[in-house]
Amino acid sequence: MYCVGLTGGIASGKSTVSALLSQMGARLIDADVVARNAVATGSPAWRAIVDRFGQEILLEDDSLNRGMLGGKIFAEPALRNWLNALTHPAIRQEIFRQMQLAREEGCRLLVLDIPLLIEAGWCEFVDEVWVVYVRPDVQLNRLMKRNTLSREQALQRIQSQMSLAEKVGYADLVIDNNAGLEELEKQVSDAWRRLQNKATAI
Ligand code: ATP
Repeated sequence: MYCVGLTGGIASGKSTVSALLSQMGARLIDADVVARNAVATGSPAWRAIVDRFGQEILLEDDSLNRGMLGGKIFAEPALRNWLNALTHPAIRQEIFRQMQLAREEGCRLLVLDIPLLIEAGWCEFVDEVWVVYVRPDVQLNRLMKRNTLSREQALQRIQSQMSLAEKVGYADLVIDNNAGLEELEKQVSDAWRRLQNKATAI
């Protein structure tokens, strides 16, 4: 099985790229979905978060208020480290489980969409790394718009992460997402075609 690790920075366009890849027929593992399941209502991680932040971290249906949690952890690196240590082992285990399942089902080409691919040490488990890149000003504007954040809040979130310029240094392929969706789709379909040729050559 040939494995691509897809990553980028906050609001750089990973989900948009993985949605395009999925439309083209890619089998995907989405670490955001795995991460959401890891803190599902009633799970051990959910309990630990409620113990730490109190009932006000919950919405009416007892699920986590992710916006509020995001606000707290992006403002406080120690809390972010605490949350990562709490959730990452379960997320990692579940991603490995899904990879194994894909292998057993005869999958030849798998895309792992993992925001923290580089930081969490996934590079050694994938055959190539794709980084979705946008310029800092484009990233800031898209993040402010998507999450209705102030400039300061958006900058805080961007600056809490490894910079996109640094991530590009790990990339086998950089997908440039500064232009419109049509241009993005063209790059993704070219990359997907190249990948299919590679996977059949193995
Ligand atoms: P996160 O990791 O923060 O969830 P992401 O990297 O998955 O973000 P997306 O959600 O795909 O990023 O994109 C961020 C925002 O930018 C979204 O609102 C999306 O619709 C928009 N966007 C993505 N690509 C483009 C583009 N080429 N042109 C215009 N808007 C775009």
